[in-house]
Amino acid sequence: MKEESAPLSPTELFTDYLIRHKHRKTPERYAILEKIYSIDGHFNAEALYELMQNDYRVSLATVYNTLDLLLDAALIVKHQFDGQPAQYEKALGASMHNHSVCTVCGRIKEFTDKKIFQAIQAKEFANFKSSHYSLYVYGVCKKCQKKKKQINTNL
Ligand SMILES: [Zn+2]
Ligand SMILES: [Zn+2]
Repeated sequence: MKEESAPLSPTELFTDYLIRHKHRKTPERYAILEKIYSIDGHFNAEALYELMQNDYRVSLATVYNTLDLLLDAALIVKHQFDGQPAQYEKALGASMHNHSVCTVCGRIKEFTDKKIFQAIQAKEFANFKSSHYSLYVYGVCKKCQKKKKQINTNL
């Protein structure tokens, strides 16, 4: 999990990917990549689309298409939970973090844990070179716990 001496920027990696896969290098795609890397935490396609409208107008189809390319290029990570719209986040430069996922509303929160990080870093994988990790802890968020309590007291 060590950093390379001269890591390529997300833009350079994307250019490399687009050339290798013979995709067009459109300004829209770069604008979306740039926007994604300015966002801390998670977002869904619709929210990204809304954000884009402020500085670079793109269609929702272009947003989805670019998200697919960025996923394929391993520049973003996708989180998909039952019945929830997919959420994304940047793959590079983000801190190693874990996620708690509410099984009722789908809300994802991030948390870091030094001990988990160290344990995974110390782990030896046979015939496998680890690059990063993500852990999911499932449960019910505070809001949904409250809602449930209200329903119970109303009965
Ligand atoms: Zn919830
Ligand atoms: Zn995350």
